[in-house]
Amino acid sequence: MTRLVIRNCSVLVVPVAGVCRVDEYQDILIEDGAITEVMPTGAVDAEPGLEELDATGLIAVPGLVNSHTHSPMVMMRGAAEDVSIDDWFNRKIWPMEMNLTPERVKVGARLACAEMLLAGVTTFVDHYFHAEQIAAAALETGIRADLAPTFFSSTGADVREAAYESAREIRALGKSSAGDGPPRITASLGPHAPYTVTEEDLVRTAEVARAEEFRIHLHAAETADQTQSSKERLGVTPIEVLERTGVLDAGALIAHGCGILDSDLGILANHARRTTVAACPKVYLKLAMGSTTPIRQLQSAGIAVGVGTDGAAVHNTLDVWESLRLLALTQKQREEDAEWMTVSDTLRLATRGGAAAAGLADTIGAIEPGRRADIALVDLSGPHCQPLHDPRAALVYSVRASDVVTVVVDGNIIVRDHRLITADLDEILHATKDVAHTLIDLSHGGAVQHHAP
Ligand SMILES: [Zn+2]
Repeated sequence: MTRLVIRNCSVLVVPVAGVCRVDEYQDILIEDGAITEVMPTGAVDAEPGLEELDATGLIAVPGLVNSHTHSPMVMMRGAAEDVSIDDWFNRKIWPMEMNLTPERVKVGARLACAEMLLAGVTTFVDHYFHAEQIAAAALETGIRADLAPTFFSSTGADVREAAYESAREIRALGKSSAGDGPPRITASLGPHAPYTVTEEDLVRTAEVARAEEFRIHLHAAETADQTQSSKERLGVTPIEVLERTGVLDAGALIAHGCGILDSDLGILANHARRTTVAACPKVYLKLAMGSTTPIRQLQSAGIAVGVGTDGAAVHNTLDVWESLRLLALTQKQREEDAEWMTVSDTLRLATRGGAAAAGLADTIGAIEPGRRADIALVDLSGPHCQPLHDPRAALVYSVRASDVVTVVVDGNIIVRDHRLITADLDEILHATKDVAHTLIDLSHGGAVQHHAP
């Protein structure tokens, strides 16, 4: 048995409902990757075989979950600025994605994993091409991940079937590399969106998902315009498409949902147990999408919501602290209610909400006995957090990703004193430099898909 004790930290306690709490002077005992006890400091004696991690002055926070991203898109960071959403897809990103190769995706995924781990993000829920390369990067760096190999209908049935096969292989890899605990790498099916994937293909995806117990991770009802266009084209909303194709019945993680209508809520409520939504507010602001995810309405319908960054080609970072802060601000603005999306609710969304989005609602998302030990130790002693009247408020409104000191995933110390242990960051940055220009090259013409929702 491997045993680790995190000594003398404060612990952010995130209950299922209600106000978060900070317990001071705690020890967290971890055995074989699971949290077994959280108790006052000193209750566990030092003994041979017990590794000790001194966390004096730090606050232990459940590892953050990036509920929706396309991790290798870090390679396009800053390469598509100040453009409309149509130009972002049609003139920048989808032409750039003609340049994807397994090797380049791997370089991007390793950079993404390093960025997230150093910022206290212990799980990411990904949706991209060459996902087996992302799985390899996640395995190497020690992060937890759910990966959805992505496809469009325009590329044909063979590519669609290959994406399912990739999900099967990633799931098998996750299982074979797991110890006694649950796999750290899991897979979902990844149709791109109802406007780029036909209903026929969504039906087929839902059948595979039900038969093989996969969830489906896709973009849907991203904007009000998209919902309007779906109604004009098909006579129904994107959420109604997901219902009639069986996607909701199979279980879905819906990215964005800013165009979800009140009339969709009843449908979603019928599938609440298997439906989650990921909100990525920085993207909605940057692409001037005009709205944000209706979290209050979704939560009233019993839908779990997580927070994500989406790809760094628009979000520029994979910093979930930045996302959760923007989420709180945009939600208050949306509802015109400063009392809505409280500090506690925001922290719950980034931890327990993210766990639900990752399909791991009972596995991660809280520092309590029985959960896997995914923990970020954060230093709130910097001038931007002091004086510390309320550490919970600091975590939402003041903290920086660089305040994360040490990170534990599945009971393993992955980042220690701001240094990534599992991979060579300098080497990752060199590899990034070597191939970055090849990914943003537009000289070839063409695109992987045309954006016309
Ligand atoms: Zn996305």
